[in-house]
Amino acid sequence: MKLGIKRKEFIPYYQAIIDSNTGKTVGCEVLMRWKMADRMVPPNQFIPFAESSGLILDMTKSLIDHVVLDIQKLCKFEQSLFFSINIVPEHLESDDLYLLLKQIMQTNVLGHHRLSLEITERLPIKDLNAARERLNKIYSLGIDLKIDDAGTGYGGFSYILNLGVSTLKIDKMFVDTIGNTESFNAKTIDAIIGFANQSGLEMIAEGVESQNQVEYLAQRGVHLIQGYVYAKPEPADTFFQQLQKRQG
Ligand code: C2E
Ligand code: CA
Ligand code: CA
Repeated sequence: MKLGIKRKEFIPYYQAIIDSNTGKTVGCEVLMRWKMADRMVPPNQFIPFAESSGLILDMTKSLIDHVVLDIQKLCKFEQSLFFSINIVPEHLESDDLYLLLKQIMQTNVLGHHRLSLEITERLPIKDLNAARERLNKIYSLGIDLKIDDAGTGYGGFSYILNLGVSTLKIDKMFVDTIGNTESFNAKTIDAIIGFANQSGLEMIAEGVESQNQVEYLAQRGVHLIQGYVYAKPEPADTFFQQLQKRQG
């Protein structure tokens, strides 16, 4: 894997996030792929090891560099988009990520686009106070934080509020149960949406595959949609080409 990092084999794919009210793309999630000679390796085959070994720190750094280059080279889009990067709690244990982001913001290489971060609720944050202090520095750069896999993991409502997140990403696990009133998760999704609405958090629903789900979510005020119903994760050239067409 170290060799793969050196050879720059870890590359970004982009999945559009679309406002179901307008059909317009508002941003995207950056999803890592391992580009091998003959195939693209999906993250579930290497991210767990990358995370447990600490290699994820270098991989995220080179991923962000790659995204910045892609935006400069390929993005001709007039409206402002956010590019959401997945981070892990370890990223909040040193100033490295903050310094990288600061440098990017100072050089203004993104134009009118912006970076955003998402952190999963699956992994615990060891020192919440220290993490919050680092996050405040990152927020001061104009970069926000989304909580990923909300409702599936370690957190809880007060945990989410304490981190100062802007957005809650509703996990596919809950979206999948829409239409199935017997399921426990179907009640949970309504509770998550209720909490986010009351707390003034934005929401993005993930893993949305049907129009039926889009409508259920829209009725409850969830308009930002990430899922195969609109777009799959795509390589940079396809994603940036499709951007214009999807607005059409
Ligand atoms: P995630 O952060 O929850 O990302 C969303 C996953 O759901 C992506 O899988 C995406 O392709 C998939 N997805 C989106 N919409 C749909 C849909 O409508 N149907 C279905 N079946 N799937 C959908 P992917 O790309 O395989 O990534 C898996 C996980 O790997 C991510 O889950 C994230 O936890 C991790 N990951 C990916 N890139 C990075 C990264 O750069 N850093 C870190 N730390 N983790 C990453
Ligand atoms: Ca994510
Ligand atoms: Ca997720």
